Amino acid sequence: VDAHLAPYIRENGEVNGIIAVLHDVTDIRRLEKMRSDFVANVSHELKTPITSLKGFAETLLDGAMEDEELCRDFLTIIYKESDRLHRLIKDILYLSSIEHHGIPLSIEKVNVTEAVLSTAQTIKEGAAKKNLKLILPEKKDIWIEGEKDRIQQIVLNLLSNAIAYTPEGGEISVSIKEEDKAVKFIISDTGIGIAQKELPRIFERFYRVEKARSRSSGGTGLGLAIVKHLVDSHNGKIEVKSVEGVGTTFIVSLPKKQNNVI
Ligand code: ADP
Repeated sequence: VDAHLAPYIRENGEVNGIIAVLHDVTDIRRLEKMRSDFVANVSHELKTPITSLKGFAETLLDGAMEDEELCRDFLTIIYKESDRLHRLIKDILYLSSIEHHGIPLSIEKVNVTEAVLSTAQTIKEGAAKKNLKLILPEKKDIWIEGEKDRIQQIVLNLLSNAIAYTPEGGEISVSIKEEDKAVKFIISDTGIGIAQKELPRIFERFYRVEKARSRSSGGTGLGLAIVKHLVDSHNGKIEVKSVEGVGTTFIVSLPKKQNNVI
């Protein structure tokens, strides 16, 4: 608590007491801590791929370049790491822009099935590469108020994870359920699943259930933190159900109407 004290002086100059203004600064302190944790995490996350890029480039310059096969392997690693670094920076900038400025929704009428189907197009190739069966919703006109780009980003992040964490030959499905006041997006996979004790933490920035595995899948640990923000900005809700070794289902529920439009 921050306290400010001031004498209370009457019009006739008489001191009549002390005014104490007490400020609860718990929230401010918490925000400050979150911010400094974020900077520390970002620095750490950036350091890892940069160290690896530097190491492989140095080894190549020190002579590994003579060996064509080794050279190709190292360059592949350098390419993958720089690609991840690129995505990491993009995600960090995106997350900090939506967190700090709380950019208001630019509300439009969104045809949800169309938004989902066009997002699914962009990940079809990735799913096919892993021989994953992709089950998509039928074309149907369901409209909600929201920002199309953000809704597509939610679906994209959840679908990308479903692909990343589902072994070859699995199945990924997206369905849309229209309710009275909301629309539910249900994204399921038959992947590795998430342990119950990890579930409450997966929406935290940079949190990964198994660091090595998710890093090699190219993840940044920011995908779900971004999803949570985008869902919140629509006054929506997100739920997750998962069984290890069986699969995971994310359910995003967005209201059809946005009342408190700024
Ligand atoms: P990442 O970029 O590492 O995928 P996310 O924020 O998108 O980061 O997800 C956080 C963590 O939650 C992941 O590292 C992974 O461990 C777990 N996770 C997310 N989606 C799934 C899923 N569909 N199946 C299994 N684990 C998942």
